Amino acid sequence: MKKTVPVLLAILLLFACAAGGLYALHTQAPVRAAEAPAISVLGQLCGPAEGLVYTETLWGYGGKETELMGSPVDLGVFARKDAPLEIVHAERTASAPLTADGDYTTVEAGAASYCRVDLEKGGERLLSGASLNEYGAYTFSENGRYDLTVSLGYTGTEERDETDYVYRVSFSLRPEPFVEISQNEAFQGAIMSLILEPAFYKDEPEIETELGSAVFIPRDDGSFLSLIPVWYAQAPGEYPVSVRLGDWEHTETVTVTETKFGRQDLTMPQSTVDATRGQANANEDYAEKIKPTYEIADRARYWEGLFIRPVEGRITTQFGLYRYTNGSKTPTRHTGVDLAIAKGTPVPASNSGRVLYAGPVIISGNTVVIEHGGGLKTYYMHLDSIDVSEGDMVKKGDMIGKVGTTGYSTGPHLHFEVKIGSMSLDPWSLFDGTSGIYYFDGN
Ligand SMILES: [Zn+2]
Repeated sequence: MKKTVPVLLAILLLFACAAGGLYALHTQAPVRAAEAPAISVLGQLCGPAEGLVYTETLWGYGGKETELMGSPVDLGVFARKDAPLEIVHAERTASAPLTADGDYTTVEAGAASYCRVDLEKGGERLLSGASLNEYGAYTFSENGRYDLTVSLGYTGTEERDETDYVYRVSFSLRPEPFVEISQNEAFQGAIMSLILEPAFYKDEPEIETELGSAVFIPRDDGSFLSLIPVWYAQAPGEYPVSVRLGDWEHTETVTVTETKFGRQDLTMPQSTVDATRGQANANEDYAEKIKPTYEIADRARYWEGLFIRPVEGRITTQFGLYRYTNGSKTPTRHTGVDLAIAKGTPVPASNSGRVLYAGPVIISGNTVVIEHGGGLKTYYMHLDSIDVSEGDMVKKGDMIGKVGTTGYSTGPHLHFEVKIGSMSLDPWSLFDGTSGIYYFDGN
């Protein structure tokens, strides 16, 4: 009697999976006999992809998940019609006909006692006589055309005792890089993050947006992370964020929404104004010492977990506030947050990083600047004293100085500021964990 248990060895071409994840050979067994075991072949390809051969755990007869049982196995071949896959050769198809079933072209075979897989690329043998498990565990690392040969055997049956079926299938791997952004809507002052999984691209990735300077930081899993600033004065509207990887390009659109910032009327003794801001060389001094830090963006991640609010104390000037000094017509914007607290209060680093500047500045007094990676920086101003030096690597919570009232200041307080490039950003979402920079932590 001829075996009638039809099964499928499925070589599936994949469509892009939005969330990324597992990709490999899919071997599916629509088991129709109670005793026939299901096949489970798990494999993993790096990164999300289109047109990949795919694997997943199968569901056996009765919908119960089962383990790979060994022989006999039930096999077939099927391929998405719209995928770049062709069945080059299928021998003895008389009893293993090609059928068109929905989206797939299917080759059905009977219950085979074994299956061997050979895989080649450009004439080079990558796998020879491999089991389905070995094939499932094979990790593809290059784009290109692959030739897969599947041999089925039927030993132990009356009619067949050697390899009966050989399927040769050629498929192309052209996995698409994958981009995910923490949010497509961001408020003025927000920080977004973006992940790029480069698939098989070896090129250096680039990111570009008029929202500000952004760079890619390599991550351990081969993906890249970028932090994107939304300046507190960025005009609401839509902005493209473009990612390039060799000849591949992808654009995300971000909608910037308005943040309601407060206003403050400040009266300051003219002498203080004159001594600091009015001083001709004060701006030059600031430009010389602090502005060069804007351009620095380390391609490394130093920050870990939540940023900490460096000191308690009363908020005397909120971030982003419109400030009218001595009744001036044009307000200055407050680029950080002022926390008033006793002189001498220790100031810790809000997160781990590299000290870019530590020293006196006419306007901002004793100032420390820390790069946390990817261009994200914190600024500590008006310090009474400084405990770190330029080039130091600091850990989150390390003391970097003490609260003071140096520079353009009316009393002891810490001016704490967050920037990427020259863009001043909201510190509070870094403290409470709502910032987009945390979006990809843990995944
Ligand atoms: Zn301030």
